[in-house]
Amino acid sequence: MLRRVLIANRGEIALRILRACRELGIETVAVYSEADAEALHVQLATQAVCIGPAPAARSYLNQDAQLAVALATHCDGIHPGYGFLSENAAFADACARAGLTLIGPSGDVIRRAGDKAAARALMRKAGVPVTPGSQGSLSSLEQAMEDARRVGYPVLLKACAGGGGRGIRRCDSEAQIADAYAQAKAEARACFGNDELYLEKLVLRPRHVEVQVLADRHGHVVSLGDRDCSVQRRNQKLIEEAPAWGLSPALRKRMGEAAVAAARAVGYESAGTVEFLLEEDRFYFMEINTRIQVEHGITELVTGIDLVQEQLRVASGLSLSVAQEDVVVRGHAIECRVNAEDPQRDFAPAPGQVEFIHFPGGNGVRVDSCLYSGCSLPPYYDSLAAKVMVCAPTRLGAIRRMRRCLEEFTLEGFPTNAELSYQILYHPTFIRGACTTVFLTENLPQLLDFGRRLDREEKNS
Ligand code: ADP
Ligand code: ADP
Ligand code: MG
Repeated sequence: MLRRVLIANRGEIALRILRACRELGIETVAVYSEADAEALHVQLATQAVCIGPAPAARSYLNQDAQLAVALATHCDGIHPGYGFLSENAAFADACARAGLTLIGPSGDVIRRAGDKAAARALMRKAGVPVTPGSQGSLSSLEQAMEDARRVGYPVLLKACAGGGGRGIRRCDSEAQIADAYAQAKAEARACFGNDELYLEKLVLRPRHVEVQVLADRHGHVVSLGDRDCSVQRRNQKLIEEAPAWGLSPALRKRMGEAAVAAARAVGYESAGTVEFLLEEDRFYFMEINTRIQVEHGITELVTGIDLVQEQLRVASGLSLSVAQEDVVVRGHAIECRVNAEDPQRDFAPAPGQVEFIHFPGGNGVRVDSCLYSGCSLPPYYDSLAAKVMVCAPTRLGAIRRMRRCLEEFTLEGFPTNAELSYQILYHPTFIRGACTTVFLTENLPQLLDFGRRLDREEKNS
């Protein structure tokens, strides 16, 4: 087993990784930027080293600094978490060259899965259904027009290197394609330093259903069941559930098998997620996320399997501790992402000082957060403040439990989207388990207006 792991990340996921390491008796080295000197994971790690100024490009994304600290502190492994360097093939290669074990798949696997256009081609070959669209990346605007005409509008232009909902543009007719093409290319260049695009037919009212997989170096690939992440704003997830509601056993089995086939097709190792769009009982491969996912905790709640500990086992060369027949999904889990942002001001990021924070607790409740009363949430990174997760024997029980958790959750110091999530938990479409990826956009004015009414009543009373 690895002895000492550098955690090349920050925030709640750094804390999450630290907890898994401690339970396995692995020492931890935290790195932090000047903005994160007081962070909780920095205080709890065996050792902590400052790697640079606040901007991520000069600290968390500085590959040389991460490697230098890992070597100087005698680490044998590096966990990249999510975001930052987690899907960076060059970083995976650099770790291997330095003799460090990266907890995740190899650079080659990241390259095969991380180029989203190339991954589509691999999936087609492996017999996994993909949305109609371009073959590989687009060489020009003319090719985009030709492909769009062939598959039919509306279409999406998407960044080959995409992630986090960035670099995606919708296009409803040929009149829009030149602008959409230029915008998607510019955003892709700014976000990923790579402006290659591909094109997919827009699936009109799909659900986002993804399958968690685990794979080791000994040929084992298991599926840990599915999650529904359809409640999204601007292609970014807000509320997730495990398992996905209302799938027939036959459909669930087909999707699980397609995910395992997808993982095998790229030679996968470690924890990964295969994302699909689901339209009635047809599903289409969207991408493989070659890292631990933000929403992995709800799969842990319904399976009892610690995904980060499995990643550490696999990276150490051990077999997975579970076989497919050991995986049992029990009950229903929901996660609400609490972000430091103001829904009433077009979701403007609202970082700041946490004056007071109280997390809900009790049976079937898990909160992953790096915040504590008195700390601050710096403006330089993403706005995730806490993940509130619940699990209960039934879906309705989980909804009720989440409502009471959000009633209890208290964060003073800056606005969050918690009230919006609370409103969603009372929306009939959500309660029916019928949300598609357009649900939140279509219902946002109504959901926000309720919050505004409450504000007015409070002011008047
Ligand atoms: P998940 O399904 O795990 O939520 P996301 O695509 O939302 O995956 O990304 C997970 C996290 O990683 C988010 O917090 C997001 O801010 C960050 N992230 C993803 N891709 C990028 C990127 N290219 N640059 C910066 N941050 C990213
Ligand atoms: P990212 O790498 O940024 O996570 P994805 O390919 O996973 O990008 O897409 C993000 C979200 O965009 C999906 O969850 C879905 O809501 C939407 N989306 C992507 N492709 C399509 C499509 N072909 N049709 C409809 N919605 C799509
Ligand atoms: Mg995705």
